[in-house]
Amino acid sequence: MCLIFTCGEHTFRKEVEGYEGITCQCHNCGNWAGHVIKSNPWFTFCFVPVVPLSIHGYHDVICNICHFAQPLENRQDVQAMKRGVEGGGNIPMQNQPPPPQQQGGPPQGWGQAPPQGQAPMRYG
Ligand SMILES: [Zn+2]
Repeated sequence: MCLIFTCGEHTFRKEVEGYEGITCQCHNCGNWAGHVIKSNPWFTFCFVPVVPLSIHGYHDVICNICHFAQPLENRQDVQAMKRGVEGGGNIPMQNQPPPPQQQGGPPQGWGQAPPQGQAPMRYG
C-alpha cells in the first residue's frame, strides 16, 4: 500500500505479551518463521499519526521470510502455544509465606493444672 497523499496509514507493531520468542509455522511458505505481532494501525495526516484506526489493535502472525500476515484468531495452534507457555511453569511463583500458626502447646488449663507458683522445696 502506497497511498501517500497528505494522509495515509501507519501501523505500529510490537511483540505481544505472552508470545515473545514463540515461533510458529507460516501457512504461506511453510517455514517456521512466524511471529505474533500486535498491529496498531493509525490514520496519519502529513505522516503524523492522529487517529487510531483500531482501538485495541489486532494480532497477526507475521512471517519473517515471506511477510505473510495471518490473523492470530485463525491460528488456534499458535494460541495453544501461548497456553502451553503459561502452563509450562515458567511463571515466577509468588512465594507466599505460610500463615502464622500459633503453636505453643495446649492452652493453659487443658489437661493439666496450670502451674500455680513454685512448689516449696523440701530438704531432708
Ligand atoms: Zn512465510
